[in-house]
Amino acid sequence: MAVSRASLLRGQFRSDPSAIRPPWAIGVALADARAFASACDACGRCGPACPGGIVVFDRVGRPTVDFTKGACTFCGDCVKACPSGALVRTEGAAPWTLKAGIAATCLSFGGVDCRMCGDHCDTRAIRFRPLGGGRWLPAVEAADCTGCGACVGVCPVKAIALKPAEQTPADPNKELASCG
Ligand code: SF4
Ligand code: SF4
Repeated sequence: MAVSRASLLRGQFRSDPSAIRPPWAIGVALADARAFASACDACGRCGPACPGGIVVFDRVGRPTVDFTKGACTFCGDCVKACPSGALVRTEGAAPWTLKAGIAATCLSFGGVDCRMCGDHCDTRAIRFRPLGGGRWLPAVEAADCTGCGACVGVCPVKAIALKPAEQTPADPNKELASCG
């Protein structure tokens, strides 16, 4: 559905507050989705600037990140293309608080030795531990996860999602252990 700029500015169409915005979106450290929505005027420049093509747009024309298209390399080109101040990269600031989480639909729970996600994680944040009987279960070490999303698109059963750190389990190993 096309959304007119006038409708957008009148606030008749609202963005999804849980949408993943490009790195260094303002308000992300405070989990304040309204800060970004106020600053972004949906000009559309950040999407074409992303060399990986992972910045797409929601129904009101604001950018979201689609990790099924690839990983974020944190190059900052989307930030450089943003004229409104909605994306601002400050020295030392984390791009976001996203962390990977693995659902119980992971093939490993059924005894399949997949490990695609671990093979694509540059920081080795996904560790596999033996459960016996040839079963190996993945768990994300949150401290090592950059939220790059490289593990998302390679999972054959779409078992991985990225969420803000405050929405992911404090100890993913415990959650996995309880499901295993
Ligand atoms: S890629 Fe998906 S199915 Fe394979 S081990 Fe990782 S989470 Fe499980
Ligand atoms: S989001 Fe990136 S760093 Fe985190 S587990 Fe997935 S591949 Fe590794």
